[in-house]
Amino acid sequence: MSLTRYDVCVVGGGVMGCSTALFLARGGMKVALLEKHALCRGASGVNAGTLTLHMTRAALVPYAIKAWDMWMHPETWLGHGVLATAAPGLSLAFTPAEQELLEQRAAARREYGADIRLLSGHEAKRIEPGIPESCLSAAYCETDGFASAYLTGKAFHEALLLAGVTIIENADVDSITPPGESYRISANQGSLQIQANRLVLAGGVWLEPLLALIGITLPVKTLINQLIVTERMPPVMRTVLSIANGLLSMKQFANGTVVIGGGWQGRGHRDSGKPETIPENLIGNLRLGQYVCPALAEARVARIWLGLESETADAMPVIGPLAGFPELYVIGCVHSGYTSGPYMGKLLAGSLLGNEPEMPLFNPSRLIIPAGSEPDTIAEKINEQH
Ligand SMILES: Cc1cc2nc3c(=O)[nH]c(=O)nc-3n(C[C@H](O)[C@H](O)[C@H](O)COP(=O)(O)OP(=O)(O)OC[C@H]3O[C@@H](n4cnc5c(N)ncnc54)[C@H](O)[C@@H]3O)c2cc1C
Repeated sequence: MSLTRYDVCVVGGGVMGCSTALFLARGGMKVALLEKHALCRGASGVNAGTLTLHMTRAALVPYAIKAWDMWMHPETWLGHGVLATAAPGLSLAFTPAEQELLEQRAAARREYGADIRLLSGHEAKRIEPGIPESCLSAAYCETDGFASAYLTGKAFHEALLLAGVTIIENADVDSITPPGESYRISANQGSLQIQANRLVLAGGVWLEPLLALIGITLPVKTLINQLIVTERMPPVMRTVLSIANGLLSMKQFANGTVVIGGGWQGRGHRDSGKPETIPENLIGNLRLGQYVCPALAEARVARIWLGLESETADAMPVIGPLAGFPELYVIGCVHSGYTSGPYMGKLLAGSLLGNEPEMPLFNPSRLIIPAGSEPDTIAEKINEQH
C-alpha cells in the first residue's frame, strides 16, 4: 500500500498540537494533524480560559507573557480569535499566612518578569468594590484576562486549513512504527495509515499511552478539574479574581455569566472518559467564590463541567525531542497551558524548523522511566506523590 508521506505528523489536536502544526506549516512543512475526536474538545476546549500570570508557575512566566500577547492579538497569527479580553488579575489574601504566601508568589513571578505589585486591602477594594472588607492585601497584575475556550477549535480549524495542514479528525492513533526511514502512524485499527519523517506527540493526558505505543514509559498524572458557570447577572466583578493559595479563580464574561474554578477536583480516569463531580468539592468551590464575591449569593448555578489536565512528576512541561528516537518530539503537561499554549507550540515548531529557540525547551527525557525498572510501580508512586 502506498502511504501519503508528510514532513511531520502531529498527534493530538489541542492547543499544543494545533499551534505546533500551524507554525510548522507556515514554516513550509507538509503537516498532518491527527485528532481522536474534534480539534480542541479536550482540555483546550473546556478550560476556564483564564490568561494569567498569577496562576502560571514562576519559571513559565516569560513564556506566558509572550503567549498572552499572542492571544490578545489573534490577527497577527491566528485570524479569528477566541474573544480574548484583557482584565487585571487580583489575587487576594485574607489571613497573615496568606499575605506571606502572596508576597512570596508575587516575588517569585516578578523575578521572571511579571509586573505584579502588592496592594493593601483598601487599594484592592477601590479596584474591585465587590470584595469583602476582610481582604488584607492583594497582588495586582495588568497582564491577565480571559478567553472563551470553546471557540479555540473553530479558530484553529480555519487557520490550519488556510496554512495547508491536513486535518484528520476522528483518528484515534493506536500504533506507531518507529523509524526505519520514517514513522508509520496508524489510527482506528489500521484503517488510516500515514508516513511521516518527523512525529510530534501532543496528546494531553493521553501522552503517556501514546508514548507507550513505542515502548516509552513517561508517567503523566491526570487532574480532574471542576468548573462552574452561573446564570447571567448584573456586573459583579471587573477583574480576574483569585486567592493566594490558588484554590479560586473567577471572572465575569461580557454576557454576565461568572465562571468559577480554581482546580477543585472531581473523580474519574482518563480512560473512562466520564469524569464526575465530588459534591463536597462543588460546594466548597461555591462557598469560597461567594466569600470572595458576596454578590454571587444572588446567582444560580447554570452548569458545571469537568476537564482533564495533565501534569508531570516534577510539574514542569515536556517540550522537545526524545533522546534515542530520531525526529520524535513531545509537547504538553504545561501548567496553565491554555495561557502559554500558542507560544509553546510556536517555540517547538521553530526548533523543528532549525531555528535557535528564543527560550529553553523542557527536555522530556528527564522523566522517562528506564526499561526494566518496574514501570508500573514507579509510575504509581509518582502519581501518589501528587
Ligand atoms: C477544567 C480545566 C480548566 C483549566 N483552566 C485553565 C485556565 O483557566 N487557564 C489556563 O491557562 N489553563 C487552564 N487549564 C489547562 C489547559 O486547558 C491545558 O494545559 C491545555 O489546554 C492543554 O493542551 P494540550 O493540547 O496539551 O491538551 P488537550 O487539549 O487535552 O489536547 C490533547 C488532544 O490529544 C488528543 N489525543 C489523545 N490521544 C490521542 C490519540 N491516540 N490519537 C489522536 N488524538 C489523541 C485528545 O483527543 C486531545 O484533543 C485548564 C484545564 C482544565 C481541564
